[in-house]
Amino acid sequence: MAHEMRTPIESGCPDGFQYMHPVMRKNYGQWAYHEDPQPGVLVHVSHSGDKIWTVRAGTQRILDVFTLRKLCDIGDQYGEGYVHFTIRSNIEYQVADEAKVEPLIKALTDAGFVVGGTRNSVAMLSHTQGWLHCDIPGTDASGVVKSMMDELIDEFKGWNMPNRVHMTTSCCQINCGGQGDIAINVQHTKPPKINHDLVANVCERPSVVARCPVAAIRPALVNGKPSLEVDEKKCICCGACYPPCPPMQINDAEHSKLSIWVGGNHSNARGKPTFQKLVASGIPNNPPRWPEATAVVKKILKTYKEDARDWERMNDWIERIGWPRFFEKTGLPFTKFHIDNWRGARASLNASTHIRF
Ligand code: SF4
Ligand code: SF4
Repeated sequence: MAHEMRTPIESGCPDGFQYMHPVMRKNYGQWAYHEDPQPGVLVHVSHSGDKIWTVRAGTQRILDVFTLRKLCDIGDQYGEGYVHFTIRSNIEYQVADEAKVEPLIKALTDAGFVVGGTRNSVAMLSHTQGWLHCDIPGTDASGVVKSMMDELIDEFKGWNMPNRVHMTTSCCQINCGGQGDIAINVQHTKPPKINHDLVANVCERPSVVARCPVAAIRPALVNGKPSLEVDEKKCICCGACYPPCPPMQINDAEHSKLSIWVGGNHSNARGKPTFQKLVASGIPNNPPRWPEATAVVKKILKTYKEDARDWERMNDWIERIGWPRFFEKTGLPFTKFHIDNWRGARASLNASTHIRF
């Protein structure tokens, strides 16, 4: 008997139009220009003359329900009941009445939120899930964000930078990753330690072997049990074998470090994409405040702020002054770890992101 086809179950993001401010819905695709009247505030003007003001406040990526309720109450009382979240997890309120902007900012500030993150500020660091949601993190990305943004609060609130600065963190070395003007990423420095008693029961060995980008993993019999072995000379300590095989533990309190990369930028109407490059490695992964990583980030930001021309992004600035000058001006040491000596790089040297002199 022929069966009727089942209707697909819709999943994924709901249609955003139903949640948009009516002025945004009405003027969809009709915006003429926007301006920045003050830090944290945008005004969009449409061809019809309609205007809408947006107020942005810094919020963390993983919000608890109490904070979310508080933010929504502020939106109902001082805004017009419409909000959305930016890709860097900041809340934005939309109002069509200019008179509501200042009381809304005051209500947010009084409740302890920070308004800013627009134009040439340091926008909120974006981060990956970390310990709360993922099974392989080597650090707590949310904690790094909190510690750094505490120190950069004035750069978030003001328009002090040459252009906008987007920073990212990631909590392992390979997956969601971080790419931005400044990226703070995990860096493993030792090959994984294998618990041979567990491998046979937990890991699908062919998948683990296939996962290694440099073919450093081989099947092996250890104490009569099927297991795996790692050629440590080949291993680049990427950690890719750890997600499919948790007994190949790579996270380590001492040897999982942080590294800092700069100059990453997506392509836009004016430029090609640029890849970030390593500028500091082996930084201690030091919770709960990560002072060493924060110090390096502040040093880079300070130099960029003093030296870049107006509206130069981090990558434009480094491109203009050159990498040797970048290291001289920031005072960061240029070490052997900045040189990609992986033998597979031969095939990609001319097309890669290598630092060359
Ligand atoms: S960066 Fe890595 S550890 Fe962090 S959430 Fe993504 S996959 Fe998990
Ligand atoms: S850490 Fe990376 S390079 Fe080393 S064995 Fe695992 S997958 Fe291979």
